[in-house]
Amino acid sequence: MTRPFNFSAGPANLPEAVLQQAAEEMLDWHGSGMSVMEMSHRGKEFISIYENAEADFRELMAVPKNFKILFMQGGGLAENAIVPLNLSHGGSADFVVTGSWSDKSQKEARKYCDVQIAATTESSAFTSLPPLASWQLRRDASYVHVCTNETIHGVEFQELPDLKSLGSNAPLVIDFSSQVASRPVDWSRVGLAFGGAQKNLGPAGVTLVVVREDLLGLALPVCPSAFNYKTVADNDSMYNTPPTYAIYIAGLTFQWLKRQRAGEATGIEAIEKHNAAKAQLLYDAIDSSALYVNKVSKDCRSRMNVPFFLCDESRNDAFLAGAKARGLLQLKGHKSVGGMRASIYNAMPLAGVQALVSYLQEFEQKHA
Ligand SMILES: *Cc1c(COP(=O)(O)O)cnc(C)c1O
Repeated sequence: MTRPFNFSAGPANLPEAVLQQAAEEMLDWHGSGMSVMEMSHRGKEFISIYENAEADFRELMAVPKNFKILFMQGGGLAENAIVPLNLSHGGSADFVVTGSWSDKSQKEARKYCDVQIAATTESSAFTSLPPLASWQLRRDASYVHVCTNETIHGVEFQELPDLKSLGSNAPLVIDFSSQVASRPVDWSRVGLAFGGAQKNLGPAGVTLVVVREDLLGLALPVCPSAFNYKTVADNDSMYNTPPTYAIYIAGLTFQWLKRQRAGEATGIEAIEKHNAAKAQLLYDAIDSSALYVNKVSKDCRSRMNVPFFLCDESRNDAFLAGAKARGLLQLKGHKSVGGMRASIYNAMPLAGVQALVSYLQEFEQKHA
């Protein structure tokens, strides 16, 4: 069976090999007589699944020893509250607003601390990133929040900001929900990273948090215990029942990522190369056409989410119907910006992007 190519922004497509393995193991995981869904989270079977997932992510992403990897619940949106509950001391936090997601984050944090917008690209309709030199960081900020890939606006940091170069010692908090495991992370610049799994890692329901150990134990007294990073870390993410099946699938995805090859490169370096090649192919097709346009500055275009517009918007419905008929699914843009969006996460094969590019050209010729 060949499946269609699914360009959903999230929950998104998963590697076929992962889905197949999960199907094979569905009724009886490794001779245990149980589905992973039916196991106690404290039994030796699930503990081994959990420990492998944690170790594989640490190896894959080269997470240093002084960072904890937590598997939480509540998604990226819950983290918008959980982060200030844990890190703000009720004091202040600085936000860089580069699109819908960082804007949501700063609005939520206002419930818990004094929020300042250190920089924003709202005036350019979120089609660029603010130059580092323009960021207004406060000396007493307890953290600085950045969304490294704006899933809706298609803007991505190609390099993490070095806050020290701006004279700030505040920990950098990154929302990497739609970018996680698509490229390496420079952990020396990060205090805490969080991401929902449903874009690049697995099914909805598990949220990955990577937090530097010195940031544990600072939570406000009102912080719910299940959302206190120290409590979660001290209990190996099992203070309450973790989303076991979602962790299992994420673990299979980490193994799939470790198997990636691109020339000499392996693992995360290999998937980064594949992602860069896929994105280049699609942006080149858009840029060289007279019908499609992507408005994001070339230096910060997302490799994961490619929003584009038809110059003649009256053709949107015909475009989407034709795409669907060719097995190219979920290309409609987010309702807040309109147009189209192709999400090309890790699991999207090059063949999917090639099929999309062929369709873009065919549709343009037909309607020229
Ligand atoms: C999808 C997404 C979120 C929201 O995640 P939920 O799991 O729906 O809470 C937050 N931030 C970014 C960058 C996202 O792409």
